[in-house]
Amino acid sequence: MSYILYDDIRNIQVELAGRVAIKLHMGERGNPNHVSPKDVGILVEKIAENGGEPFLVDTTTLYKRERYTVQGYEQVARKHGFGEFEVVIARDDEWLDVDGVKVAKTIAEADSLVLLSHVTGHLTTGMGAAIKNLSMGCVVKDGKRRMHAPMRPVYDELRCIRCGTCVKTCPFGFISLQSGMKLDLTDCPACQRCITSCPTGALRVQPGAMAKSFREFALAASSVLKLFKKDEILCINSLLKITRYCDCSSPSPVICKDIGYLADPDPLKIDVESARLLKSNGAKLDWQTWEKFEEIASSVLK
Ligand code: SF4
Ligand code: SF4
Repeated sequence: MSYILYDDIRNIQVELAGRVAIKLHMGERGNPNHVSPKDVGILVEKIAENGGEPFLVDTTTLYKRERYTVQGYEQVARKHGFGEFEVVIARDDEWLDVDGVKVAKTIAEADSLVLLSHVTGHLTTGMGAAIKNLSMGCVVKDGKRRMHAPMRPVYDELRCIRCGTCVKTCPFGFISLQSGMKLDLTDCPACQRCITSCPTGALRVQPGAMAKSFREFALAASSVLKLFKKDEILCINSLLKITRYCDCSSPSPVICKDIGYLADPDPLKIDVESARLLKSNGAKLDWQTWEKFEEIASSVLK
């Protein structure tokens, strides 16, 4: 399939009706590489011109930074230039159960969905784009825990030399060595940093964990997709400022020239095309992991 590569977001046709949720990541404090408010403003105008009622939406994070709470995320959204739009940060206690997946109610109840995704590298899935935005991005905290759970570290006391490296490496303070080794992994987003930094292999991932986790991502994406007919969803991938890690991380290096935008109702198709474009432009990401993710997502979303 050949895709139109848009160099300007205003050239993308957006004809969606009713309350139109624009689902996007509005950026982690200190990381300016998120989708630009200017692009969002163009989309908002286009949707309104066609009779739709656009609003911006995102869910709160599993890890405890500013976007962990609705109020904290609202502040970040204002700080990052999204204050002029209607922004709804979904509440964690309001969801719709779709095949066991807790989809944020604000998204589930929208009439149409624009899935606006910034394409980046990703620690867990190799590349993060539309499927990642649809799965992890559209569910409440319980749903996020379910996707991350299989990839969380497993601790082997016999191999541990109590060096404290993992304590220093965990960005969220989930590991402590005071009065013995303690791991509190309830909200661990399975970033793998402690595992890769442990010098003795005392922290590891269980065999088969990656496949289990990727299947949970794909099932969550499938549940969200069930809520929207094909003419009620448009996925837009922004291939600008493509960084090594996702917008949740601290700023990471840009790894590829700006490419443009892709748009399609099918999130998997534009993710596959995004990966192809990144590779052909020399972006060095963990493509082996992405290909495993793509394979599992394709089998679930077929
Ligand atoms: S995977 Fe390890 S480093 Fe990452 S958040 Fe979980 S406990 Fe912390
Ligand atoms: S990094 Fe590994 S060896 Fe060091 S304290 Fe943590 S688990 Fe133990």
